[in-house]
Amino acid sequence: MLGKYSVGTGDRFAHQAKAQLKACIQALDSGIEVIPVWNKSNREHNIIGSEPSSVRTAADDAARALDWRLPYFLDADHITLETVGRFLAPCDFYTIDVADFIGQPADAADIDEFVARRSSLAGKIQLPGIDVPFEISSDDLRHTAQKFLAAIKIAGQVYRTILAAKGEGNFVPEVSMDETDRAQSPVELLIILAAIADEGITIQTIAPKFSGRFNKGVDYVGDLAQFEREFALDVAAIQYAVAHFGLPANLKLSVHSGSDKFSIYPAIHRTMKKFDAGVHLKTAGTTWLEELIGLAESGGAGLALAKEIYAEAFSHREELCAPYATVIDIVPARLPSPTEVSAWTSEQYTSALRHVPNAPAYNSSLRQLLHVGFKVAAKMGPRYLSLLESNETIIGLNVTENLYNRHIAPVFLGRNA
Ligand SMILES: [Zn+2]
Repeated sequence: MLGKYSVGTGDRFAHQAKAQLKACIQALDSGIEVIPVWNKSNREHNIIGSEPSSVRTAADDAARALDWRLPYFLDADHITLETVGRFLAPCDFYTIDVADFIGQPADAADIDEFVARRSSLAGKIQLPGIDVPFEISSDDLRHTAQKFLAAIKIAGQVYRTILAAKGEGNFVPEVSMDETDRAQSPVELLIILAAIADEGITIQTIAPKFSGRFNKGVDYVGDLAQFEREFALDVAAIQYAVAHFGLPANLKLSVHSGSDKFSIYPAIHRTMKKFDAGVHLKTAGTTWLEELIGLAESGGAGLALAKEIYAEAFSHREELCAPYATVIDIVPARLPSPTEVSAWTSEQYTSALRHVPNAPAYNSSLRQLLHVGFKVAAKMGPRYLSLLESNETIIGLNVTENLYNRHIAPVFLGRNA
């Protein structure tokens, strides 16, 4: 069972598990249990050329080295029926991604059956902690089933594949619907949860798509008040679903943040407090940017390599950005030329890259380009990895500080970064 508070972190090159775990130890020292989950998608493994078992080794080694006695998990991130196989042995958390099946036609008989079985949801529902009753029409019920039932049936297939391999109670199932164009409303979320319960999936976390833009590695863009309203309704819908649909009591929202959604962290924290709710905060691969910051900070060969990576990423920016086109907004005119960057000091490089939104030198275009540029470092292979190893201390400090101060403390402790 996943604990109430958990944080998903990425570690593209499998060198920072200890530094990341130190952030959870710091949380524990501040009086709060935040369970670490290491997430890595099939796409990431393919780009890096790594196997899921390497994540297991890194996590187990870190837990042993730091004497971490609480649970920790390995998330097979955004897996499907086609990709789940290689994650069955090493992982114990599965983000079942069915976004591609949203909107696909479900069997007409299945839809009728669902609408009939859940007809009592149509009408006014009083959600816990929400003053205004939730209104669901029978059209909402049918339209939501038409749009999502096929995807949920697929989630059931993936779930049963994992269940057959691992056995009940030996893994955390999540269903994710975030990588799609349109946000799901709280009404849709409630109906989706009913269908997930009917499918027999014992989900512990669900990742809807929220309103607003969740670009990779940079802050949230959207209406903060609307986000907070919807987030509260989502949390209330989950509490209702636990009470009425027989879903696991620890079911909670999984926020696939794409990292660094600093401006919504206070709203998430307030809502968690108000509803006494848990949350899983999934951050993406910004740990790799902390590696670059640490290398740049170390000067010498580290700084030279960080500059070389920028130059390579700059000259291949179109191909690097293509797979992430919907989740990045780079302004080409804001990207410094590699010649300019080659003359930078450590301080200039780190202050352009480090995510301090109001700092004058911070450059979100450069940050986003480097964020998707991990393929460049992957291609360097041992050259990159050996510099990570020789600069382990300075990089580790950046990784821990970033995860604790900029993510864990604001979300789980309500402290500003
Ligand atoms: Zn996601």
